[in-house]
Amino acid sequence: MQRRRLDSADIRRWAAELGFALAGVARAVSVPETAWYQRWVEAGFAGEMKYLTDHRAAIRSDPRRLLPSAQTIVCLGILYNTPAPLTLQDGAYRGWISRYAWGDDYHDLIRARLSQLAERMRAAYGDFDYRVCVDTAPLLERSYARLAGLGWIGKNTCLINQGQGSWFLLGEILTSLEIQPDTPPPDRCGTCQRCVYSCPTQAIVPRGDGYWTIDSRRCISYLTIELRNEIPPARRPAMGTHLFGCDICQDVCPWNRRAPDSAEPAFAPREGLLGPDLEEMARLTPQEFRVRFGGTPVERARYRGFLRNVAIAMGNARQEKFRPLLVPMAQSEDAVVAEAAHWALAQLDAVRYLDQEETNG
Ligand code: SF4
Ligand code: SF4
Repeated sequence: MQRRRLDSADIRRWAAELGFALAGVARAVSVPETAWYQRWVEAGFAGEMKYLTDHRAAIRSDPRRLLPSAQTIVCLGILYNTPAPLTLQDGAYRGWISRYAWGDDYHDLIRARLSQLAERMRAAYGDFDYRVCVDTAPLLERSYARLAGLGWIGKNTCLINQGQGSWFLLGEILTSLEIQPDTPPPDRCGTCQRCVYSCPTQAIVPRGDGYWTIDSRRCISYLTIELRNEIPPARRPAMGTHLFGCDICQDVCPWNRRAPDSAEPAFAPREGLLGPDLEEMARLTPQEFRVRFGGTPVERARYRGFLRNVAIAMGNARQEKFRPLLVPMAQSEDAVVAEAAHWALAQLDAVRYLDQEETNG
């Protein structure tokens, strides 16, 4: 009997039934981006993200280090876009949380769907080895997603699909199956540099080879989520009122103008996560933080990191009404929160001084 030649058509259909908007297949081999990734790490662009620079950096060089029998990688994308506003810059002095964090944490959901898809493939193809991965696995997942035909990597370093934009979360199934790989699409950024010019911290920088990368040390997503201690003062003014992550380089991307919405109820915005009131956030106790953000990606910032971000946002809002909240924060037992509150009070003092100067004429 002639052996059936596997391709991604069936997988794409099953994936769609499980809620994945994008699916494709790439070979489980080392990719040229590995060398660039190493240079990115060596340049210090990973900041303090140890999980990107420790022994796991070497694992990223070849997916067969995650699954020795791997032949192919099934790459999947699930939409998280919701019909809600772009990053608020409306002067309301509210905080801002990144779009992907408005609903439930995605890791368990994606992992479960990937396992369901893998079992469906086993039912059709017979037994094979597999391993499911979400973004916590040391895998250059955007590079494989590109090779699997899901989209190209934009100057903002997001995976962009021509018809569906970039509001995607990615997942992978490493398999020991031989499946016909898909073809990467062309890069459609062209001469556009909107994301580069819109980034408030100039975090999108040229790589020197015609491509662009993110210097994480400047990126608001890194500063508000990954950086555990003090945020360098020089970086703070450009952070605006971002409390957790930043979407600006995706908000401005023309390929997101007609991006479809996710049908996934888990990603619908929870109450109180869209533009939360800064005064209310500053009053949250650790227990209230857990109630408000438990089960959402915001938990990753932890209470002290979140409160630090709230203090900086209040300093950037430069509203005198925040002073009564910042004064007790500046006495916090947590040195990181206290220092951020002192900085914020200094911003308010500067405004007060300028106002007095103006009055004195
Ligand atoms: S997430 Fe925000 S800070 Fe980071 S690169 Fe994009 S626009 Fe710049
Ligand atoms: S904004 Fe322009 S340059 Fe940036 S990712 Fe989108 S298309 Fe590419």
